[in-house]
Amino acid sequence: MFNSLSDRLTATFKNLRGKGRLSEADVDATVREIRRALLEADVAVPVVREFTAVVKERALGAEVSEALNPGQQIVKIVNEELQSVLGGETRRINLAKTGPTVIMLAGLQGAGKTTLAGKLGKWLTDQGHKPVLVASDLQRPNAVTQLKVVGERAGVAVFAPEPGATSEFDDPTGDPVKVARDGVDFARSKLYDVVIVDTAGRLGIDQALMNQARDIRDAVDPDEVLFVIDAMIGQDAVNTAKAFDEGVDFTGVVLSKLDGDARGGAALSVRAVTGKPIMFASTGEGVRDFEQFHPDRMASRILD
Ligand code: GDP
Repeated sequence: MFNSLSDRLTATFKNLRGKGRLSEADVDATVREIRRALLEADVAVPVVREFTAVVKERALGAEVSEALNPGQQIVKIVNEELQSVLGGETRRINLAKTGPTVIMLAGLQGAGKTTLAGKLGKWLTDQGHKPVLVASDLQRPNAVTQLKVVGERAGVAVFAPEPGATSEFDDPTGDPVKVARDGVDFARSKLYDVVIVDTAGRLGIDQALMNQARDIRDAVDPDEVLFVIDAMIGQDAVNTAKAFDEGVDFTGVVLSKLDGDARGGAALSVRAVTGKPIMFASTGEGVRDFEQFHPDRMASRILD
């Protein structure tokens, strides 16, 4: 039913082999196909507009080669431009030179932060690190318990002080900023080398919560602030990403729920709008359903 963009583009140009240069009319027909496919992949409208303008300019300037037919040539241009917008190279985690590396997670409720904390913890453990998860989401009654379950499943330690208990790290006040700060102190004293701070998210963008996230960020001075976004969020990706970028100035993006039907348009939108690199992809509910983000694979996913 759904022909891939590559197929559609190649078909548009089937009969054009041998023309010296693509005409504007030829290119316009293709650009329409590209626009439609990107919108179907849920890329934000302004991003689609800018992207197609770049592709059009390149396609008009391109000599039709002997080796590729014009359709293949446009597919190549689209693929290259997609990869470039998606960030080109895979961006790696920035590790602290001294003391524990602090990674803070931010995003809407349900985006997949808590699940990601476990995955990231497991992934880091497999690489020889000793991470600890810090439960700074005190907004939802179940969040701390959920993080503990996630940590247990992933075999990663969790710092979540119980109100009323008696160690130096207890937090009877329920202050997420204090929990985050204590979590980093705890990591330092127990020789954990990576601290992953889970924070609260709301269903919509919420100024009080954004301020809380910013306070946590200022308190723990993270090496990375990862913005977790549900790939299924579609056209809302742009506004959500902008709000979090202004609110916490994140350093990288994690795209979650890529195992679903989402074609990855959110990746293109978020990257284009914020300029921040997409670092990881979450691809399921299991602790191993997680990988570093590869712009070339995402470009193929959007094209195919
Ligand atoms: P948080 O509110 O941001 O902490 O989000 P959670 O980590 O609690 O995730 C919300 C829901 O999405 C849970 O039911 C998770 O199991 C599910 N989830 C998280 N990441 C993924 C993913 O990559 N794929 C799928 N299919 N489900 C996910």
